[in-house]
Amino acid sequence: MSEEMITHTQTPAAPNSTEEEIDAVRVQCRKCFLEEIDPAAYERDIKRLLLLMEPSEKASEQKYQARLSVCRACEYLNQATCDACGCYVELRAAKQDGRCPYHRWQG
Ligand code: SF4
Repeated sequence: MSEEMITHTQTPAAPNSTEEEIDAVRVQCRKCFLEEIDPAAYERDIKRLLLLMEPSEKASEQKYQARLSVCRACEYLNQATCDACGCYVELRAAKQDGRCPYHRWQG
């Protein structure tokens, strides 16, 4: 299986997959474990997703920064994700209708 054939919609390797097929899926699924995150790719992907958000869906910059300040001081923040819900906090905070699962910041 070539790497070009793998998409994010591909199902996990089947139980009878070869080691090569399992490795190919693992390469595509590089963010399954935080220790496997490529910091440059993570930053690029998050920034790209933020840029792709519709302006009408986005919180104001002031609100976004205020939310991130709360997250920065929160014990649930873990390597840019929220341990309470598993989301990427920067994406959650950027949405106008985003919510903190523990109501530490509101819309
Ligand atoms: S979304 Fe809420 S619970 Fe999660 S890190 Fe931010 S403040 Fe903490």
